[in-house]
Amino acid sequence: MSENTLPRVRNVIGMDVLRLPLLGRLLRHRHGRLTLQAGMTLVALALVIDGFVGPQSAARNLATVAPWVYLRGFVVIALLLAGNIVCMACPFTLPRTLAKRLSLGGRRFPARLRNKWLAIAGLFALFFFYEYLDLWASPWLSAWLILVYFVASFVLEAIFTESAFCKYICPLGAFNMVYSTLSPSRIAVKSQDICASCVGKECVNGSYAPHAVLRIDEIQIAGAEPQRVEVLHGPRGALGCGTELFAPQIRSNLDCTFCLDCVRACPHNNVSLFTRMPGAELSRAASWPRRWDLSLLAIALGFMGISNAFGMVPPYYALQEWLALALGLSSEFIALLLIFGVMNLLLPAGVAVGAAWLGRSMTGFQARDSLRETAAAFAPTFVPLGFGIWFAHYSFHLLVGPVLILPVIQEFLGGIGDWERFSLSLDINAIGLIQLVALLAGFFWSLRLAQKAALRLYQRKALLGLLPWALVFLLLMLAAWQIFTLPMEMRGTLDLFA
Ligand code: SF4
Ligand code: SF4
Repeated sequence: MSENTLPRVRNVIGMDVLRLPLLGRLLRHRHGRLTLQAGMTLVALALVIDGFVGPQSAARNLATVAPWVYLRGFVVIALLLAGNIVCMACPFTLPRTLAKRLSLGGRRFPARLRNKWLAIAGLFALFFFYEYLDLWASPWLSAWLILVYFVASFVLEAIFTESAFCKYICPLGAFNMVYSTLSPSRIAVKSQDICASCVGKECVNGSYAPHAVLRIDEIQIAGAEPQRVEVLHGPRGALGCGTELFAPQIRSNLDCTFCLDCVRACPHNNVSLFTRMPGAELSRAASWPRRWDLSLLAIALGFMGISNAFGMVPPYYALQEWLALALGLSSEFIALLLIFGVMNLLLPAGVAVGAAWLGRSMTGFQARDSLRETAAAFAPTFVPLGFGIWFAHYSFHLLVGPVLILPVIQEFLGGIGDWERFSLSLDINAIGLIQLVALLAGFFWSLRLAQKAALRLYQRKALLGLLPWALVFLLLMLAAWQIFTLPMEMRGTLDLFA
């Protein structure tokens, strides 16, 4: 094997997670991800079955309790402590792999759609219909949503060469990818020298071929003799990166599903999953492409965190009533579209353009940086605060009934749910404290990142350039805290205690 013939070189700082005794072996294994996905597919099937034939009560059905209470809580904890392991184990990519193996994908995703606009639209639609259709309360609709996800990922993978669904469309993937930028892990190569000599670039191209093909790489590592390495492509070869990331050039977790296909495909054992300083990429200028779609996605997700929580507190219903009385908007659909349109799209877009314009005007740097470049410099700084808002919200629902899913599973398996035994809850004051810490930590982390960005852009006038963004952070944090101190609907658990 090539990996045994090459000298071991490591240029990256951080622990190589894939060298850990048990976990590393499982993840590196040819069928490691498949095993995880197969397990998650069985779980998804259980959810669909319960959603269609189980009790149509939100708190007693796996199709509602699992995704809308537990998965969301698990997602934010996993992103914070490990990385994007939810995308790694995502069952929706199993049909994707099947489509790829059947060589169905033929053409590239349309060039004009190779950005995050569809993902922003998908996130908007998901949160809108979650609220409008009360998705959290309908096991039947939730089961349909899971099926739609499976079909969409298969169809898109069958049509296009790259993983268009994960990279450009999936709202859950967009959420995970943005917030995995503050995770303590990332994909990196061990030696840039090896990549420079590598001919096949299998990490992105894959090593799959209908028939066996032998290739010779001459690897040149500084200070060592050149090594001739045999690389075998064939029917048992691995897929390359579905989202078309080239391992030696990866600067961000954006677009990385942590699938580890690059690790398995690299014939020189040169790619791995490394630990890093949480959020390290967020303070580097060149980590994210300077694009409006990416900037708006990062900023809008913070606002969506506010609107999602706002939909569960009394002032939301008061606002709906006011809209009906003052503007004659009796249609819930239109009223919700208006509220979410303003909160989730107009406000973030206004902030991106307005704060960038103000910062440039106050510092006198209008001529040097465009609005797009200025917004792009500050957009990543929204990640910690946005994450803090989501963490505070999701951890609340999770900690109010941390094991209430167990009686739901008992009933799904045909037993009697032991609701009394598993209805324990964390003290409400302790939950409030966790929410406050999450918000404050997100706020100060965002502020620190924005300060670094302002120093980079405006040097001695950094304070002036920072002001508009700091004000937005403060307002977002206060709005979130105000919402979290109000009585919140206990979606998915309320009817148990009513
Ligand atoms: S990561 Fe591996 S496959 Fe990719 S360029 Fe480097 S050596 Fe080649
Ligand atoms: S193949 Fe691409 S998406 Fe998968 S882990 Fe490697 S870089 Fe990330």
